[in-house]
Amino acid sequence: MPRPISATIHIASLRHNLDMVIQSLNNATAPSGVKRPHIWAVMKANAYGHDIENAVRAFSAAEGMAMLDLKEAIRCRAAGWTGPIMLLEGFFQPEDLEVLAEFGLTTVIHCHEQLKMLEQWKGGVALNAMVKLNSGMNRLGFSVDDYPGAFERAQRLQKAGKLGTVGRMTHFARADDNIDATLEQIRCFNRITDGLPGPVSVCNSAATLSPDLGAYMPSGPDHWVRPGICLYGSSPFAESSADDFGLQPGMTLAAEIISVRGVKQGEGIGYGHTYLAERAMRIGVVACGYADGYPRHAGTGTPITVNGVRTRLLGRVSMDMLAVDLTPVPAAGVGSQAVLFGQGGPSVDEVAAAAGTLGYELICAVAPRVPRFIQ
Ligand code: PLP
Repeated sequence: MPRPISATIHIASLRHNLDMVIQSLNNATAPSGVKRPHIWAVMKANAYGHDIENAVRAFSAAEGMAMLDLKEAIRCRAAGWTGPIMLLEGFFQPEDLEVLAEFGLTTVIHCHEQLKMLEQWKGGVALNAMVKLNSGMNRLGFSVDDYPGAFERAQRLQKAGKLGTVGRMTHFARADDNIDATLEQIRCFNRITDGLPGPVSVCNSAATLSPDLGAYMPSGPDHWVRPGICLYGSSPFAESSADDFGLQPGMTLAAEIISVRGVKQGEGIGYGHTYLAERAMRIGVVACGYADGYPRHAGTGTPITVNGVRTRLLGRVSMDMLAVDLTPVPAAGVGSQAVLFGQGGPSVDEVAAAAGTLGYELICAVAPRVPRFIQ
C-alpha cells in the first residue's frame, strides 16, 4: 500500500493561468494597437515540479517553452511540442551543440566560452540564439562593455551559417519588489541593445504582470515574455496573492491523517516539544513530512485544512509526519484528508510565507516519493 499522500497536478488550472497571462498582456497592449508579446512558458526544474509532460499539455497555447536542462528539452519534444524551446543557460560542452541541432533548440549565449565553442563547432545547422546582457542581476550575461562585441561575434556566426536568428535578452533581479531597480535594468538594456535586430525578451512573471512597467518595455513584433511562477498559480509578489491575479493552484499536496490522539494541557508535541498544548486537545498526525518536500521551517500556526476546515500545524515537522490541531474539526479521524497547500487548502504562498520561503521552493521541492496524479 502506498503512503496516503499525493500531489495532484491540475492541468485545467495551469491552462487557465496561461490564459490569465494572455489576457493581461492583451489588456496591456490592446490600447496601443500593438499585438501582445509572444510567451515563453518557463518550465525549468521539471516545470516547477509539475512535470514537463503536464506543462506541455497545459501550455500548448504559448508560443515557446523555456527550460535549463537538455534532458527536459528532449522530454518536451517527446511530449509532442514542435515549437520553439529555449535553453535558459544555453549549453555547457561542445557535444551539447549536436543535441541542440538535432532537437531544434534555441540557445541562450551568456559568456565568451560559449561563443568560442560555437566558433569552433563544425556543425552545419543554424541554431537560434538569444545573446544575454547582464543589466544588473549579476548572474548570467555579458557585461555592458562586452555586449556589443559579443553580439557582433554572434552576428558573424550567423553569417557563417552556425546561428539562425540572433536575439537579445536580459533578466530582472527585483521585478517583484522594486520598480526603480527594474526600470534601471530596462534603461540599461534599451541603451545597450536598442537598434539591434532579432527577437527581444526581458520579462519574468513579476514584470509581465506589472502594468506600471509596460510603458518602458522594449516593444515590436518579436517581443517575448518569460513567465514562470505565475503559470503554476503562485504569486511572484509578496504583497499580492495569486488570487489577486485570478490564478489557480497548479498543484495540490494532500495527505491523510494516520493517527489521532488526545493530549493534556501542557503536554509537548513532536520533536523538541516546541509546542505545548494550551489545553486538552485532539491532534491528528498527517502522513507528510519534510522528506516529502513540506518545509521543515513551517512552525506552529502554519495553515492546513482538514476535511475542508482550516486549522493549523502544531510543533515541528518531522521527516515523514506532522501534527495538526483537530479542535476546529471534531469529526476528523484516521483517514481524513489534510490539504497542505493547493486547491481546497491554503495557498502555497501562505505556507511558504509561514516557513520563511517562497512558493517557488515549495512546488519544486515536492519529493519524487510522493505519488503524482493528474486531474
Ligand atoms: N527567465 C529566466 C532567465 C529565469 O531564470 C526565470 C526563472 O527563474 C524566468 C524567466 C521565470 O521567472 P519567474 O518564475 O519569476 O516568472
